[in-house]
Amino acid sequence: MKISEEYRRANGFTPEMIADTMMAFYDAVEARCEEILANLKASGITLKCRAGCCGCCSDGLSMTQAEASVIRKLFPDIGKEQPHAEGACPFLDASGLCRIYRARPYICRTHGLPMRSLISAEEASEMGIACDGSGQEAYEARDICEENESLADIMELPDESCWTVGVAEAKIAAMDLCTYGESKRIPMRNFFQN
Ligand code: SF4
Ligand code: SF4
Repeated sequence: MKISEEYRRANGFTPEMIADTMMAFYDAVEARCEEILANLKASGITLKCRAGCCGCCSDGLSMTQAEASVIRKLFPDIGKEQPHAEGACPFLDASGLCRIYRARPYICRTHGLPMRSLISAEEASEMGIACDGSGQEAYEARDICEENESLADIMELPDESCWTVGVAEAKIAAMDLCTYGESKRIPMRNFFQN
């Protein structure tokens, strides 16, 4: 795929501009999250997500190059600090708070929401989801943080009360591709120099 310099500049897909482009994308993600939370609330469901609840901040998470650029822009010195000990996200502080909250990657912004994704019949079979033999090629899988599991039967929630996996992930990968010529994920722990 070839992308002209003119297109890249017009859409903010240059290494110098991508942090702002990604932050605008995060604003759209946050707006959608707020809609989902409002839909859940209208059904009497309030998620247990709160500051200091950090079971979802696991070690081994990764981010794209564009997501890393947002962290570098908003927290230029964070890489010089000590990472959290192995076993949890390196950006967590000792009290369980995120040290880069305003710049946290996309995956951290949808933590806790009911997630819905389309999976192939093969994946469905591997996950133990019953396939009816009708030849259907895609199935829907849903998931939620175990802290929020008891709040609702997520399979019964309307689609509007769930985050649909796929579109945002594709956009994020495309942003990296347009900006850097390749889509690459960086382990969060690699962000730290020590
Ligand atoms: S970047 Fe922040 S919100 Fe995301 S996993 Fe790490 S500590 Fe949690
Ligand atoms: S996703 Fe789960 S662990 Fe993370 S803040 Fe929400 S309730 Fe807590």
